[in-house]
Amino acid sequence: MMDFHAHLDLYPNPDVLIQSVKKAGVYTLSVTTTPSAFLKTRLMAKGCPRIRTGLGLHPEVAASRIGELSLFDRLVSETAYVGEIGLDGSRYHKESLVIQRKAFTHILDTCERVGGRVLSIHSRGATAEVIEHLTHRAKSCLPILHWFSGSMSDLSKAKELDAWFSVGPAMLQSESQVKKAAAMPKDRILLESDGPFANYQGETLSPLTTYLAVPALSKIWGVSEDETLAQLRENLGQVGAIAKSKIFSRT
Ligand code: MN
Repeated sequence: MMDFHAHLDLYPNPDVLIQSVKKAGVYTLSVTTTPSAFLKTRLMAKGCPRIRTGLGLHPEVAASRIGELSLFDRLVSETAYVGEIGLDGSRYHKESLVIQRKAFTHILDTCERVGGRVLSIHSRGATAEVIEHLTHRAKSCLPILHWFSGSMSDLSKAKELDAWFSVGPAMLQSESQVKKAAAMPKDRILLESDGPFANYQGETLSPLTTYLAVPALSKIWGVSEDETLAQLRENLGQVGAIAKSKIFSRT
């Protein structure tokens, strides 16, 4: 099983969760929200080869943490995974869009300069703009749009860019989101929890419960749950191979 977008460092007892994730063998992308959180979050997962730590600067904190961009640049050679990054144009955060944009484009340019990276990207309320930036920047990177909530037309543009998508049990509860998931290429979908910020049936999601999205995907794809799992495993292998490939180690 896999969780390609979880904030392990933000759970109340990360060490306990990490040991359970390790025991369950879940391949996990542990994203961070600030560059200063990266080293300690990676340290938490020491000895867990299936947990990879992403270097991030979340759009919701970009305004207060813009000063950490130089730390981002110093740390980027430490990992093939970058996230959580992106833009948030929702009513809660649109006031900081100018500074978010500065952080996001700087990060994309840095990633392009060092060579490809696997990017876990937030795009709530700003999907068209995120896709526009990706069209011009970080072309050697593999963008994974996490919890895609843009329009069908944004989705077509994302597909043209060969973007990937991470979807989870919380996202697939909505009928309109299910329609979008159905339009995503099945060989470019990964599972995510977005825990501890996402809930499903009253429970906080985590890498241990991303499997709850399997029945919904199986229904969308019209194949058995076993076939759904096989497809997801193949997709994960593909991302791992891309991350290891020459382009992605050009540092
Ligand atoms: Mn997140």
